[in-house]
Amino acid sequence: MSEPYSFNVGAIQCCPVSDGSLPYPPNWFFANVPQQQMEGALRAHGLRADEITGTYTCLLVSTGKNKVLIDTGAGKIAPSTGELLVNLERAGARPSEIDTVILTHGHPDHIGGAVDAEGKPTFPNARYVMWKDEWEFWTSEEPDLSTMQVPEELKTGLILGTARRCLPPIRKQLELVEKESEVVPGIHLLPAPGHTPGHSAVAVSSGRESVLHLVDAVLHPILMEQPAWRTVFDLQQEQAAETRRQLLDRAASDRIKVMAYHFPFPTLGRVASRRAGGWQWEPAS
Ligand SMILES: [Zn+2]
Repeated sequence: MSEPYSFNVGAIQCCPVSDGSLPYPPNWFFANVPQQQMEGALRAHGLRADEITGTYTCLLVSTGKNKVLIDTGAGKIAPSTGELLVNLERAGARPSEIDTVILTHGHPDHIGGAVDAEGKPTFPNARYVMWKDEWEFWTSEEPDLSTMQVPEELKTGLILGTARRCLPPIRKQLELVEKESEVVPGIHLLPAPGHTPGHSAVAVSSGRESVLHLVDAVLHPILMEQPAWRTVFDLQQEQAAETRRQLLDRAASDRIKVMAYHFPFPTLGRVASRRAGGWQWEPAS
C-alpha cells in the first residue's frame, strides 16, 4: 500500500496510483553499456548496481465529469505487485466508477490488471481505449517478439500469456484509436511507437497547464541523460529512440509536468535540456 498522492493540472485532479514493483537485472535497462560504466551511472544516482527496482504506477485522472484510469498494473504476478485496486480505493475510486481505461500498450505490467481472477473485465462500466496497431499486434496469432532481447520463456510465458488472458475479455468494451485523439475532454492519446508498435503517450491538459505522461517511452531517469543507451524491452529500437527524443524535446521546451510509468513513485517531475546533450530528470519535491 502507498499513501494517496495527487496533483492538479488546471481543474483536473491526477492521482498516481501504485500497483507495486519488481526487481530487474540492471543490464535489461542498459543493454548496450559496458558493465563498469553502467555501475558508475547507477552509483552516481545513489542506486545499487546489482538490481533495479521497476515501479509500476498507474494514473487516475478525475476531470469532474470523467474518471479515467491510465494502465492497470501487472496483476498478481508476484507478492509485490497487483496492489492497484487497494490503492485506487485509498485514492477514493471504486472499479465500478471508472468510465474509461486507457491501455497504453500490451505489455503485462500495463494490462495485467485489466481483467480479474475470473477473467472478467476489472472495470465493468469502463470503455477500454487502446491504439489500433497495438491491439492488432498483441491479438495476432504469433506476435513477432524476436527483436525483444529478453529470455524466450518470458516471451512465451508472461508476455504472450498475459496478452492472451487479458485482451480478449475486454473486446466488448473496447474502443480502438488510429490517430491522436481526445479520449475524454482534457485527455489526449498520442502516438509514441517503438517500445511496442502502437505504444502511446498521454497528455492531460486543463487551462494553461498540462502533464505529459511518457509511459514507457523512457524507462529510467538515467536514459534521459544517456539517450544512446538501449533497453532490452523496445521492439523497434530506432523508432523508440526517435519517439523518446521528440517527447523529451517537447517536455523540455514547454517545461510542462512529466510522468513516466516506471520512474520512482509518484513519477512526477520535469525535464531539462543539458548543454552536454541529452536531458535531465528533475523529480517533483
Ligand atoms: Zn512497462
